[in-house]
Amino acid sequence: MDEFSLINSVKQPYYRQSSLLKGIGDDAAVFKERQDNIVIATDVFVEDIHFSQKTMSPEQVGYRALAVNLSDLAAMGAQPTFYMVAIVVPSKWKNKIKEIYEGMNKLALEYQIDLIGGDTVSGEQLTITITVIGSVFPNSVRYRSHAKASDIVFVTETLGDSRAGLHILQTGKNYIEAEYFIQRHRYPKARIKFAQSLTSIDRLALNDISDGIISEAAEIATESKVDIVIDESLIPISEHFYQFDKTLQRKWKLFGGEDFELLGVTSISNWEKIKKLSEKTKTKVTKVGYTENPESMDAPGKVYLEENGRRTLILDRGYTHLNEEGD
Ligand code: ADP
Ligand code: MG
Repeated sequence: MDEFSLINSVKQPYYRQSSLLKGIGDDAAVFKERQDNIVIATDVFVEDIHFSQKTMSPEQVGYRALAVNLSDLAAMGAQPTFYMVAIVVPSKWKNKIKEIYEGMNKLALEYQIDLIGGDTVSGEQLTITITVIGSVFPNSVRYRSHAKASDIVFVTETLGDSRAGLHILQTGKNYIEAEYFIQRHRYPKARIKFAQSLTSIDRLALNDISDGIISEAAEIATESKVDIVIDESLIPISEHFYQFDKTLQRKWKLFGGEDFELLGVTSISNWEKIKKLSEKTKTKVTKVGYTENPESMDAPGKVYLEENGRRTLILDRGYTHLNEEGD
């Protein structure tokens, strides 16, 4: 498929967003800006670094790549509107590009967002760069810097499932509910609708869990100049997570990442409201910890794990105090 016919085949017959003035087919796209703040995020996906044909179909690669980008918008509290796709295509992938776009389109339909442009070049390694655009009311942007001392730390749904799914795909062993874990890996859910349901919450820090709860917590703690204490026994896991090796369970739920759940930090009174609001989108929310004034004002951003009243420093300015090896 040449570039011209590729562009024609991915071009939507009509656009869903009324603010769009020009989509694919000119030198650049044009849309009308409203009163909201515009939010933009980009992620790059490279074959054999971020995904492999061994464990994912082209359609799943496309779906996942867009989902991961949408997750960044969810973590800002934004409503997605548009996306752009720049791809480097090696010749062996030429006939599968259409399927990648079909995966993205599935998700685009769900959120009523439009593909408004991109770029296509030939190259050695399949590389997909997606840019997502969205909008947010100025008062409900969810910066990492929004946490304060004595706040509640919570997460959506369950952690570690995506990494478990990858493990099942890589080892080929039999596990209970294997398909559930595999789906969690291949089709991560951006928590857009949940984050949107919280617009009435006046102060909330959000981060999507792409690299594991500990590292995401550290990012919020550092930006907000607090320390975070997480109770490991409170971290929500799925029903059949217990079947995996104990060391792996711990590693995956703390550092596994790629679950794309949301980590939130907010006041105690907001937490009560969030528990109620979460019912609207049927999203499970679990309190996993709290914040406190930093032990050292010069070096805020520490993350502690607490179990049975015993506290261990786990992350301090990017340095991990726990052995992550063992897979
Ligand atoms: P230009 O020479 O101005 O960069 P192109 O021929 O690259 O134009 O692109 C023509 C139109 O198709 C533009 O609107 C561009 O945004 C869109 N486009 C190009 N490649 C892609 C792609 N891979 N996915 C989506 N849209 C694309
Ligand atoms: Mg171009």
